[in-house]
Amino acid sequence: MPFTPTDYLPYDFANRRHIGPSPKEMAEMLEVLGIDSLDGLIDETIPASIRMEGGLDFGKPLSERQLLYHMRVVSSKNRVLTSLIGQGYHGTVTPPAIQRNILENPAWYTAYTPYQPEISQGRLEALLNFQTMISDLTGLEIANASLLDESTACAEAMTMAQRVAKSKAGAFFVDENCHPQNIAVMKTRAAPLGIEVIVGAPEALDPAAVFGAIFQYPGTYGHVRDFTDQIAALHGADAIGVISADPLSLTLLKEPGAMGADIVVGSAQRFGVPMGYGGPHAAYMATKDAYKRAMPGRLVGISIDSHGNKAYRLALQTREQHIRREKATSNVCTAQALLAVMASFYGVFHGPEGLKAIAQRIHRKTVRLARGLEEAGFTIEPEAFFDTITVDVGRFQKGVMQAAVAEGVNLRKVGESKVGITLDEATRSGVIEKVWRAFGIERADDDLTAEYRVPEALHRQTPYLQHEVFHMNRAETEMMRYMRRLADRDLALDRAMIPLGSCTMKLNAAVEMMPVSWREFSLLHPFAPADQAEGYRELIDDLSAKLCAITGYDDLSMQPNSGAQGEYAGLLTIAAYHRARGEGHRNVCLIPTSAHGTNPASAQMVGWKVVPVKSAANGDIDLDDFRAKAEKHGENLAGCMITYPSTHGVFEETVRDVCAITHEHGGQVYIDGANMNAMVGLSRPGDLGGDVSHLNLHKTFCIPHGGGGPGMGPIGVKAHLAPHLPGHPVTGGEEGPVSAAPFGSPSLLPISWAYILLMGGKGLAQATKVAILNANYIAKRLEGAYDVLYKGGKGRVAHECILDTRPFEKSAGVTVEDIAKRLVDCGFHAPTMSWPVAGTLMVEPTESETKAELDRFCDAMLAIREEIRAIEEGKIDRENNPLKNAPHTMEDLVREWDRPYSREQGCFPPGAFRVDKYWPPVNRVDNAYGDRNLICTCPPMEDYADAAE
Ligand SMILES: *Cc1c(COP(=O)(O)O)cnc(C)c1O
Repeated sequence: MPFTPTDYLPYDFANRRHIGPSPKEMAEMLEVLGIDSLDGLIDETIPASIRMEGGLDFGKPLSERQLLYHMRVVSSKNRVLTSLIGQGYHGTVTPPAIQRNILENPAWYTAYTPYQPEISQGRLEALLNFQTMISDLTGLEIANASLLDESTACAEAMTMAQRVAKSKAGAFFVDENCHPQNIAVMKTRAAPLGIEVIVGAPEALDPAAVFGAIFQYPGTYGHVRDFTDQIAALHGADAIGVISADPLSLTLLKEPGAMGADIVVGSAQRFGVPMGYGGPHAAYMATKDAYKRAMPGRLVGISIDSHGNKAYRLALQTREQHIRREKATSNVCTAQALLAVMASFYGVFHGPEGLKAIAQRIHRKTVRLARGLEEAGFTIEPEAFFDTITVDVGRFQKGVMQAAVAEGVNLRKVGESKVGITLDEATRSGVIEKVWRAFGIERADDDLTAEYRVPEALHRQTPYLQHEVFHMNRAETEMMRYMRRLADRDLALDRAMIPLGSCTMKLNAAVEMMPVSWREFSLLHPFAPADQAEGYRELIDDLSAKLCAITGYDDLSMQPNSGAQGEYAGLLTIAAYHRARGEGHRNVCLIPTSAHGTNPASAQMVGWKVVPVKSAANGDIDLDDFRAKAEKHGENLAGCMITYPSTHGVFEETVRDVCAITHEHGGQVYIDGANMNAMVGLSRPGDLGGDVSHLNLHKTFCIPHGGGGPGMGPIGVKAHLAPHLPGHPVTGGEEGPVSAAPFGSPSLLPISWAYILLMGGKGLAQATKVAILNANYIAKRLEGAYDVLYKGGKGRVAHECILDTRPFEKSAGVTVEDIAKRLVDCGFHAPTMSWPVAGTLMVEPTESETKAELDRFCDAMLAIREEIRAIEEGKIDRENNPLKNAPHTMEDLVREWDRPYSREQGCFPPGAFRVDKYWPPVNRVDNAYGDRNLICTCPPMEDYADAAE
């Protein structure tokens, strides 16, 4: 047997949880590859010159029980107080039905971004519900399916305003009542683009001087104001009016649409998503129909399928970086889909009456709190408020805040003499009484007389959430079944391999997910005093140290909330470094044409000029072209962005040369770390010459993709860049923040930490090796049927491979899309389509898939090749064939069958399970139709009836 026992590490090292193939299966796979050991395969795959010295040593890997115990110990170092700090983050009650059926349900959290609409109808419907809810609450026509956080949403609104405003003024006005982190992130974003940010009182706005303005509603200190006049004045000057609004308050307050706002952003956190010490939560953006094409982020719309039935899919994708590169509307790729889904179900669960009742209760409680304080002689601001008041306590600020903490309550420090208090859905009378006690008031919260402090003129006059879905029977039975029905329409990792190249859809182990729901991790406010978050500190420090060891970097920032945000943060860090050395003029960035679309889109956001570099015939970076361009732009070279191993799925031997050339010309090297799953434990970007990299914790480090987010994109840097990492108004630092919260979305970090602790250093390396084995096994099995576009010197691929499906277009009229859709019939999510090479499929199985699943996929792909051959040989029609008609639905099976192939062949091709067959709910979706007839909110119910006929 060509297999040595050392190839497979004992159970407590590379445990079977994460590694799909059994030792026996690995032996069989190596035999197919014609090599006698796993290490031999790795030697053929990863050039010796780029291997790391020694291995990772993280001590003994933990068992699941040890891990949970360890997590309990660490989490107990976080102290959960009642945080009434507000500032954009609120206590909320997650309905258990949503926690269990969505947040903790792999059918929802292991799904991918819904690029393949036929297998994503469930989450697309949930996201459309989210868009409908946001559109209704804000009073604007169109809303997207989430942005990363409120602060970045404000920044996106600012740049969008600049894109659409007719005013050519160079400044943007920011209401001083915006949350401080929103102001800070907007300033970060504005600086490299040359936008002047003017912060001031709304009354001080000079519309002629700006291309747009943003107002916070309610303001960070509680003010509720009508911005109608300011927005009218802005319009008079051809400028854009933006409001950042708390969506819950909009159930009571005049909506921004009624004030004339052009863009509305905000956070949907308090719709049932715990604070999580900063995230993840869904931010939203809504705008007028006229501006839809300038909107960043994903947008779900309604189209039809090939039988004319209603079908959802992502709309206006041509705005996105994958196509538009540096001209994209933004670099947002991974967003906050799962959190948007949770928020949408919170809306479905409570309905308009429920949401309004929650908001009214919060407001009445705030009024009671205020009354108690006023009657004790305190001065309350503002006069009109929703859930937030500010109390002037003079020199007693510290004393009051400390007394509150002693009562178990965090208040907000406002200036030097005031405290802010924000109430929420979870506030009970006991908490109000505690707050009073902190002010020295002994009083019972028993005078429940309803009183409102919102002026008549600001009462909302329009209805919202009138669609049926927000009025369904709210018995939990019905809710549970609705969530189950939607989940069942989708194909997630809990059903089948999702072999998406570059996206690394690997196991998100149950034990890793459990701590996410623990209150010690989920209930902390991001701005809670540091001494209440010592557990988080320990987690973040240890995880950072381990990620530095894995990548070969010296320091790390956890702030970025996605890979693209990491890119942006990393490039800002480089720019700050150049500036500090008096070389702030450097603004040219070399980016291979094969780069992920977020790379050029991020470079554009730091104001750099993107210079594309060609690929050589073998797929590597064309070194001559690279050198020539580095020389040409030498004086102004800011750096390069490369991906390793390359997006072509190969460990380029020349990577050190690329780095050296960049450094010679004074540039810095950004290595996109999305492909770390091919490197962990074997090679380190920091050793290859990288100065900074982001890690997609939602790819390599097991955070689930959530159907399009959440994610985390921390950046590792070499020591010389460390002083220039993102700072934050709360935690300090020289540079501005890139995210709302200092550590991004910390409540996800237990997942990645758990993964590393469970695997240990050797286990992580073993995972990398098996990921490479699995990819090579697929490449080998498909040999002869499909050409693998790029291979390394020894004929091996890295952790993914590109299958060339372009020839079939000519030979049989079969497109890459036909193959992708046919794979749905076989029970698979398609591989990455048309990237990085148009017309091809990029397959990444990851280490998590078993040999049986790899074989099922290969069998399906080989059968598809035979179907193509039948067309090539004229045995079956070029138009009416299983590929063109794919995917097949259960409707197809029972409707009249007039096709030149059998129902059996159509619906049960190799790969498809007989009993557990996945049936897509719709036939092939017509993308163009949907973009021509754009509908991005829930359609009226009659349409549903039509579709069912
Ligand atoms: C996924 C990916 C990114 C972007 O990461 P997001 O988290 O989706 O923003 C960047 N580069 C590469 C190569 C990727 O695969």
